[in-house]
Amino acid sequence: MRFVAIGPDSEKINSMAEIVIQQGIRKVKNLANENMVNLKSTSLGLSGEVEQKVICPTHGEYIQKSHEVLEGRVFKTNCPSCSKEKKEAKDKVEQLEQQRKKSEKIKRLIGDAGIPKRFLGRSFDNYRAETNDQQKALKVANYFAANFDQFLSTGASLIFCGKPGTGKTHLASAIANSVCEQGRSALFLSVLKATRLVKESWRKDADARENDVYKTLISPDLLVLDEVGVQFGSEAEKLIIFEILNGRYEEMRPCILISNLLPSELSIFLGERVIDRMKEGGGSLITFAWGSYRPNVISDKALPCAEVAPVVW
Ligand SMILES: [Zn+2]
Repeated sequence: MRFVAIGPDSEKINSMAEIVIQQGIRKVKNLANENMVNLKSTSLGLSGEVEQKVICPTHGEYIQKSHEVLEGRVFKTNCPSCSKEKKEAKDKVEQLEQQRKKSEKIKRLIGDAGIPKRFLGRSFDNYRAETNDQQKALKVANYFAANFDQFLSTGASLIFCGKPGTGKTHLASAIANSVCEQGRSALFLSVLKATRLVKESWRKDADARENDVYKTLISPDLLVLDEVGVQFGSEAEKLIIFEILNGRYEEMRPCILISNLLPSELSIFLGERVIDRMKEGGGSLITFAWGSYRPNVISDKALPCAEVAPVVW
C-alpha cells in the first residue's frame, strides 16, 4: 500500500515519500545480506576439516582430523587404536564390576538361605547316582533347578521321601544352591525350626510378630522344609505347617519337602489334598527307596564336607 499526495505540493511530497520508502527497502536488504554472510562464515568454519598425519607414541602414524569449532577452539580426533584400547579397558572394568556385584549377591543369597554348612557345596555333579532310581532322582532334581523360573510360574513343588542317608538333603541343597546362583532367594530350614520361629512370635516380648514370621517363610522363591513328620507333632505344629504350605501355595511359590516317612505315611500326616496341591503344575514326589548313601559319602573325598571316616583300631 502506498500513500499518494494530491494537491499543490503533491509532486514534492510524493518524491520525498519515495526516497523514504527506498531507504527502508535498502535497510531491510542490507540486514538480510549481513545475516547471509554470518551464516556462510559459520558453515565454512564447521565444514573446514583438516587432515594431517600424526604419530602416536604407542601405535605410530594415524590420520588426525581437526576442525575449528565455535570461538576459535579446534577439535582434534585422537589415535583410533588408543581410543579403542581405552574403551575396551573401560568395558572390562564395568564387566568385572558387574561380575563382582553378581557374585556378592549370590553369596548373600546363599548366606541368607540357611543351607546347613555340611551341604553348602553339594551340587548335582557331586551326587553319586549309581542305580536307575538314583539317576532318576538326580534327573528330576536337576530339571527342577534348571527350569526353576518355569516352576516358579506354576508354583509346582517337590517331595523327597525316603530313609535317612539316601541323599535327599544333598539334592535339595543342590537345588537351593542352584536357585541362589540364578539370583533367586531360597530358605532351608527344618519343620522344628519353622514351628519354633512361629511359636516364639507368640511371646509378649517377641522381636517379630507372627505375621512377619510367616512372611519370612512365604516370601523366598524356594522353601526347603526338612524333617517333615519327624515327630508327628501337636495339632498346633501341624497348623503352622499348613499355614506355611497354604501361604506358599496361594503365592505360587515352590517348596521342597524332605521327609523320612513313606509316601503313604506322609499322605496321612499332611493329608492327600496337601500332597496333590504340591504336585500341581508339574511337581513330583520322589521316593528315595534305596539303602543309606552315607557309607559312600564317608569314603568320597570329592564330596565337600564329607564326614571323616571313623578310625579303625
Ligand atoms: Zn595410540
